[in-house]
Amino acid sequence: MNIILLGPPGAGKGTQARLLEQERGLVQLSTGDMLRAAVKAGSEIGLKAKAVMESGGLVSDDIVIGIISDRIEEPDCQNGFILDGFPRTLPQASALEQLLNAKGKNLDAVFELKVDDEKLVERITGRFTCADCGEGYHDKYRMPSVEGKCDNCGGANFARRADDNEETLRTRLFAYYKETAPLIGYYFAKKNLVTIDGMADVNDVTSTIKSILDGNAA
Ligand code: ADP
Ligand code: ADP
Ligand code: ZN
Repeated sequence: MNIILLGPPGAGKGTQARLLEQERGLVQLSTGDMLRAAVKAGSEIGLKAKAVMESGGLVSDDIVIGIISDRIEEPDCQNGFILDGFPRTLPQASALEQLLNAKGKNLDAVFELKVDDEKLVERITGRFTCADCGEGYHDKYRMPSVEGKCDNCGGANFARRADDNEETLRTRLFAYYKETAPLIGYYFAKKNLVTIDGMADVNDVTSTIKSILDGNAA
């Protein structure tokens, strides 16, 4: 099963991808995480992507398409994957379609997580993650159950993204509405689109996605 999670920054794509990964044995493919790893490693791709990511713009289609086409060749992707943050432009969507066709794979569903802009500001400015395992947290919605200790791995190192501030978020949102929102129409036309209320509680969003994957109406 291959699915796409589509939605603006802070919509809950990463949170849902991690939950589905654990429960369904699908692999989470986050281009944002891959690009941040490249920046950290100082690779050629990282050097090209760094400034654009800091400003809240989109990294070039060639770079992200290259990353994804290599990644979905890996053995762990053969049982299915969850694309989180890719595709983000129409050229990326058509490149993905070609990649899947060439491999005889299907796209099972595209879930659009719909969340109001004001809520996105709150979600992004309160977001932090465990630096050791990547578990996601939020100042208001999900604090570690023991202060300073990751629920998932027990680690004590947490990180906030440099681009998770209100000003950069405005640029990222603009990029979303301009470049990524057209994909909603694209996947609607292809009959893959399922729109989900991303304002609901995390667990309710997960249950809705799972019931749709299981073939039940929402
Ligand atoms: P995205 O990957 O779409 O940018 P995240 O999954 O990282 O978004 O979520 C952004 C922030 O909002 C995180 O701090 C996360 O813990 C929190 N969050 C995600 N989904 C919900 C939800 N349904 N209700 C409340 N907070 C949420
Ligand atoms: P968010 O969780 O806020 O949706 P991501 O972690 O997915 O953000 O992406 C962070 C940044 O990485 C983006 O602002 C953009 O600069 C870059 N990026 C990630 N995925 C893509 C993509 N598919 N195309 C272009 N740029 C991307
Ligand atoms: Zn952890």
